[in-house]
Amino acid sequence: VQTCALRSDMTARDFSDDPEVAGIVLTARDITEERAAKIGLRRSEQWFRGLVQHSSDVIAVLDVAGVFTYASPAAHDLFGITPAELQGRTFVELLDHDEQSGVSRVRSALTSNPPGIRNLEVVIRRPDGTHRTAEATLTDLRNDPSVNGLVLNIRDVTDRKQLEDDLRYQALHDDLTGLGSRLQFHHQLTEALGPTRRKGAMVAALYIDIDDFKTINDSLGHAAGDQVLVEISSRLQTRLRLHDRAARFGGDEFAVVLSDVYGEGDITGIADRILEELSLPVTLHGQAVRIGVSIGIAIDEDGTASPDDLIRAADLAMYEAKEQGKGRWAMFESSMADQTLERFELGNSLGDAIENDELMVYYQPIVDLGSGKTLGVEALVRWNHPMRGMVSPDQFIPIAEKNGLIDPLGCWVLDRAVHQVAAWRADGHDIYASVNISAVQLQREGIVTEVLEIVDAAGMDRHAVVLELTESVLIDDFDLANQRIEALREAGLRVAIDDFGTGYASLTYVDQFAADILKIDQSFVSKLENNDESAIVSTVLSIAEAMGAQTVAEGIEVPDQHRRLLALGCSFGQGYYFTRPAPAQAITETLMRELEGEALTGHAH
Ligand code: C2E
Ligand code: CA
Ligand code: CA
Repeated sequence: VQTCALRSDMTARDFSDDPEVAGIVLTARDITEERAAKIGLRRSEQWFRGLVQHSSDVIAVLDVAGVFTYASPAAHDLFGITPAELQGRTFVELLDHDEQSGVSRVRSALTSNPPGIRNLEVVIRRPDGTHRTAEATLTDLRNDPSVNGLVLNIRDVTDRKQLEDDLRYQALHDDLTGLGSRLQFHHQLTEALGPTRRKGAMVAALYIDIDDFKTINDSLGHAAGDQVLVEISSRLQTRLRLHDRAARFGGDEFAVVLSDVYGEGDITGIADRILEELSLPVTLHGQAVRIGVSIGIAIDEDGTASPDDLIRAADLAMYEAKEQGKGRWAMFESSMADQTLERFELGNSLGDAIENDELMVYYQPIVDLGSGKTLGVEALVRWNHPMRGMVSPDQFIPIAEKNGLIDPLGCWVLDRAVHQVAAWRADGHDIYASVNISAVQLQREGIVTEVLEIVDAAGMDRHAVVLELTESVLIDDFDLANQRIEALREAGLRVAIDDFGTGYASLTYVDQFAADILKIDQSFVSKLENNDESAIVSTVLSIAEAMGAQTVAEGIEVPDQHRRLLALGCSFGQGYYFTRPAPAQAITETLMRELEGEALTGHAH
């Protein structure tokens, strides 16, 4: 009854003539298991063959002489020869014989005892002349009766290698200029500093940064910016000697390693030549534009510096070159490291200062020198740093101007100041707010609109706002600055020129712009007893008069200065002699006392 479930071997014999049997004898043997085992074997053979046949890796069998006795179909793709054609040929003859090291390693792998290699990279030369890179593993299976030979597993890694090479190339080269990358530069510098360095030779790293590249990009567009980078790169390369190497670090920063130099003079001479070559005009949009660069130089004389040390030192020196006025080189000195570290730390934490409420606005009254009455207040920012205590704006404003934080910082101060002064005005104090605006802020597109929005949003009378601009704004870009000053004045704000007399602009451009207030710098006030200084103050007073502007003297500390200023005809001033800058609350008290005093003496205001 179970027959259908059984496999059997059956024979039938006819015994119908045999009287004892008189029938057909069937003999059956249960072969279920035997048959299953046979099928299993066939299946697994098929299975393995399928694996081998369809594998993209080549599986081949070689004899001890390295001659192919079997190869799987994938061999065709790799070697460019069918498996049948491979029979009888040696593995070695298929290799590219220009790659000697690969060939000899395969030879020795075949002759060693036992023969074998693991993941050896070989280059195969196909009959059509093309090359493939492959990774080969050779296993000795001569003792395995079912194989009886050397099994070669070999896979095409050409595409992967190409990708690796591309990635490596990309990592080492700059696409735009074709110069080496920062990584490449690091390798080159490491090599220059290494044992192959010539006896007595110095190694120098030059860090090169294009001056005002942002302005070029912003005003002439990115295509023009790219053109400048390409032009600078090619000039840099033509200026270098055989062993010198140039790289682009990204953005507008380049570096050069000099490895065959024997004195500082050699190095600075090369820096001079680079400066000269790079400052030749570049033609952009049919217009000759002069490009400047600043170079920082760091030298290793005796092999003690690491590549990173040298790059960092050259970078610091480059900043120094910028600081000294751009368009020049500066040599690294150890003192630069401390200064910059300080600057860096402050710059980093300044970003959080506004959010963390570490900034404050102090106010210093600006008074009528005759009556002592407060006419306005100058807003002066303070930074109460959690670790350093009060940091002077002289320290962090220049940092903020460099790292872009001056914009939010300056607007924050303006916003605070106009709100505070609007409140004082609402309480009956007829005073104006005087707020410092950095040259960097003034150059920014949209600054005029933004200032007006802040003033109006605070409900502040535009006429009661004075913006203090330093003379330097006029030096940087006179036309732009003058245009902005005009726009602010037309909108009803007043403009003061701060630190007047300390720059050159006051004298050069004095006939070409108009301001409401000139502020006489403290350096003149502090030395009024000298004839020269009082002569300058007189000149400023007459310039102001001609301009129709008022004058405010800064930094009045002692009664003598107060007297002299009055005698010279200066009507307004500020300084410790009257009131030191103080938080709003303290100024409120001062203002209240003034109001009460007036009430007492019967002066109305
Ligand atoms: P400044 O605009 O010339 O400000 C006047 C400086 O003189 C202030 O220094 C003030 O505290 C100080 N001063 C006032 N009276 C006297 C005095 O009798 N004797 C002496 N020796 N000094 C006096 P401060 O507050 O340290 O500010 C320094 C500079 O930082 C300012 O010079 C200004 O250029 C800048 N600054 C301050 N606040 C801001 C701001 O909100 N934005 C911008 N862009 N710059 C600011
Ligand atoms: Ca000022
Ligand atoms: Ca000043």
